[in-house]
Amino acid sequence: MSPIRSVLVVEDEQAISNLVSFHLEQNGYEPVVASEGRRALGLLEKRVPSLVILDLMLPDIDGIEVLKRLRAMPACQRLPVILLTARAEEGDRVLGLEVGADDYVTKPFSPRELMLRVQKLIASRETVETASVPTVFGCLEIDEDKFRVVVDGSPIEISATEMKLLVELMRSRGRVLSRNQILQSAWGFMPNVTERTVDTHVKRLRQKLGAASPYLETVRGVGYRWVDSPPEEAFLSTGTDQ
Ligand code: CA
Repeated sequence: MSPIRSVLVVEDEQAISNLVSFHLEQNGYEPVVASEGRRALGLLEKRVPSLVILDLMLPDIDGIEVLKRLRAMPACQRLPVILLTARAEEGDRVLGLEVGADDYVTKPFSPRELMLRVQKLIASRETVETASVPTVFGCLEIDEDKFRVVVDGSPIEISATEMKLLVELMRSRGRVLSRNQILQSAWGFMPNVTERTVDTHVKRLRQKLGAASPYLETVRGVGYRWVDSPPEEAFLSTGTDQ
């Protein structure tokens, strides 16, 4: 990790990118500004920053599309992204979280709050990177760095959010995590993401895990738990439960 962390600011409104850059510098970060989506993607191909602040309304390709393309780049799959959104863009904000944004701030925002979120996300990502996560559970193999999950020898498709969820559960293996704990660790503080979202993602993740789904246990009325050795009979019913 370089001593000075760079933050890519993708925003076409110069007054805002100047404001954000100023505060990033004040907080010891190196701001890199791109005023168009394509320019941002070009910069990301050359150098992966510590974090991206991404405006949704851009003149060429919109922020959601930038985010999708960014997440499709292997080196950027775990890159923290904070969305800048207008109050009227609630639908886009939710979509942004679905396609893998880590957090958002709504314009007009407090630069101090934005900086706190930047610091928090960079710190939590760096902690995750140094933590060791076991990668093999029976028929399941997880390679977090390569963003690859294999069940019974076949790679499965997994979204950035599902990967985060999987990693959070595995990291707390053996412990029950409440929906709210999962929300906070996998999504950060998100007033508009409800506990129902957790259920939806867990359900989808479990379907994808297929034969390996018994490792992800539902604890009724409480939340979810990753179990190292599920009972044999749990494997007999895979694909038929929930
Ligand atoms: Ca804009």
